[in-house]
Amino acid sequence: MRRVLFAVLLTVFILLTLSAANNDDQPLYGFTSASSKAERELESKFRDVPDPQILRDTMQRLTLRPHHVGSPYDKQNAEWILAQFKSWGLDAQIETFDVLFPTPKERVLEMTAPTKFVAKLEEPAVAADPTSNQKSEQLPAYNAYSIDGDVIGKLVYVNYGLQRDYEELDRLGISVKGAIVIARYGNSWRGIKPKIAAERGAVGCIIYSDPRDDGYFEDDVFPEGPMRNENGVQRGSVMDMPVYPGDPTTPGVGAKGDVKRLARKDITTLTKIPTLPISYGDARPLLAALKGPMAPVSFRGALGQAYHIGPGPAIVHLKVEFNWDIKPVYDVIAKIPGSEAPDQWIVRGNHHDAWVNGAEDPIAGQIALLEEARGLGKLVKEGWKPKRTIIYCAWDGEEPMLLGSTEWAEYHGDELKQHAAIYINTDGNGRGYLGASGSHSLEKFVNGVARDITDPEKKISVWKRTQAARLVGARGPDTADRKEARTRPDLRIGPLGSGSDYTAFIDHLGVASLNIGYGGEDEGGIYHSVYDDFYWYTHFADKDFVYGVALAQTVGTMVMRFADADVLPYDFTDFADTTRRYSDELKKMLKDKQDEIRERNQNIDDGAYSAASDPRHPTVPPPKEEVPPFINFAPLDNAQTILERSAEHYAKAIKALNSSSVSAQALQSLNDKLIQCERRLTNADGLPRRPWYQHLIYAPGFYTGYGAKTMPGIREGIEEKRYSEAEREITRVAKALEDYAAAIDSATGELEKAGK
Ligand SMILES: [Zn+2]
Repeated sequence: MRRVLFAVLLTVFILLTLSAANNDDQPLYGFTSASSKAERELESKFRDVPDPQILRDTMQRLTLRPHHVGSPYDKQNAEWILAQFKSWGLDAQIETFDVLFPTPKERVLEMTAPTKFVAKLEEPAVAADPTSNQKSEQLPAYNAYSIDGDVIGKLVYVNYGLQRDYEELDRLGISVKGAIVIARYGNSWRGIKPKIAAERGAVGCIIYSDPRDDGYFEDDVFPEGPMRNENGVQRGSVMDMPVYPGDPTTPGVGAKGDVKRLARKDITTLTKIPTLPISYGDARPLLAALKGPMAPVSFRGALGQAYHIGPGPAIVHLKVEFNWDIKPVYDVIAKIPGSEAPDQWIVRGNHHDAWVNGAEDPIAGQIALLEEARGLGKLVKEGWKPKRTIIYCAWDGEEPMLLGSTEWAEYHGDELKQHAAIYINTDGNGRGYLGASGSHSLEKFVNGVARDITDPEKKISVWKRTQAARLVGARGPDTADRKEARTRPDLRIGPLGSGSDYTAFIDHLGVASLNIGYGGEDEGGIYHSVYDDFYWYTHFADKDFVYGVALAQTVGTMVMRFADADVLPYDFTDFADTTRRYSDELKKMLKDKQDEIRERNQNIDDGAYSAASDPRHPTVPPPKEEVPPFINFAPLDNAQTILERSAEHYAKAIKALNSSSVSAQALQSLNDKLIQCERRLTNADGLPRRPWYQHLIYAPGFYTGYGAKTMPGIREGIEEKRYSEAEREITRVAKALEDYAAAIDSATGELEKAGK
């Protein structure tokens, strides 16, 4: 993009009055008092645009038929979205990538002993729900990127199929070697379940939805209520996403044209064992046929029958075979060119593909994105000229493995590293509190916007509402967070793991990113099933689309504020506060581990485990382990001190800029420097054993997937007992934090120079 107006800009001088506070009397953070006033007027004009009736009509249009990757309606939706963007005056086009997308050819699951049972693997139409009967266009329930396979084995129930579950099985003396495991959905990215099962020697993996987690234990089931009924199945990808997402044949590069592709046998991220998801209707007889020890309490679901572990006597036959096709994905990309700094980009995305009709996931977010684009288009027609370039992205292929966003980010990687100031993601929406996760240099910014958005049901700011939820513990977090919610000026935002389209932006490219959504008040059990559709959404979720309006207002305001700010509104004190927390956590984790292992070893030596074991239900003592060594955290402590000083210094400098004259050129060069800060947290070598993941502060856990691991190299080194690796990672993280501090210092220098 060319810097069209730069010559003009050089002659413009701006009076800066910058303040950290965000209420109506004080200027917005990153704005002068004059520009703040103009910005507030524009933003409030924008917030009048989103219309619940349009949100509703758009959802109905986009969810009318199944629209997964490669389906006719997926393409029609992309073309319709393109036409919408164009009709609002945005410069839009479809960008296509070609990706590996397997679909089922054959699925068989049967029990051959002690009784015969054939799983029906069907989600039947529900009479009240008009789109649930679109059989000919629905993808059957399956786990994408499972390998083909035909296996028979004794069945073992492994709870959520996580490391700690297998440790419990070890205590019961149960191995899954040669067995087919049945795991329940929940508590991790689903791809972790077949991954660990294969590492433990299982030959097949079945994943089912227990009613304890998203069925009748929570509420009535669909169509009487919102929860999963006995036939509902959660589709979804099981690719080894913590290694790399996107098209599995083209890691690190855009899957376009004659790009070199890996042969299927050389892809490392497909599962090692065949995997299939089923309903609890299909799981019930399988689980009922298990004998062996009773499952530990933490394993028990809500099926209303005894949960045994096995192995067997149930013998299960699992066969899956797929069409391994290359399919197109259609990303719809729309731009509003920046007037003063066109080379600084604000990127905003939500996916448009679904597993089936996908009302909650993803269309509830996509309709908000479209209302934002309509509103911004309207302001542009009325004369608004955003300083920076705004890029709206309706991604395709998110569900299989973040395909559209990852390929686009990889293809445009060099430009994005240079130009992208922020990526803001949403993925669906619901009723309730504002949820925000992302880069902590954006924490203050998020808090500022949240104070300006009104909760549609309570008529207080969404910030107040979220604070209240934290104070009374309505939203989970620990008591430390409760205390902080009253006293800390900014509500904390969480770190990003993975599971949506921000992944390539933050983890691969180091673009400061956010993931935003409302939720917490509308439980549902239709995730990735045929019942996630317009009927379900308009009966059980944000029925009147008022939180759809709130989401469009929230994210649209963020986009505008970032596009228009005089100084890009990053703040580094919240970031430094967060890394201080992470390093304290890591030290405590190591110490707790040392104490725990020391005590356990003592108990083993004393014979306490065998003495306590019930002879009728014997357990095996855990193995003795080496007590973790002490690790040198000094480099991290030193870097932390430097970072805190730099963050404070920047915060002071930006306050001191009040009422000084700053040239547009100085601002441009300051903002270019600010954009590069987050990049310093990446390392081109990436994380140990997963070079695609280059951010050293945030990553999806190797054994959690959705869940973030912060300072992942250090944390996973300790968790997985690679202590010397953890120590090496401390040095790398420390170096990144020091580079980051140096980048902040350089921006501060620019500020001080500008203010003179
Ligand atoms: Zn989604």
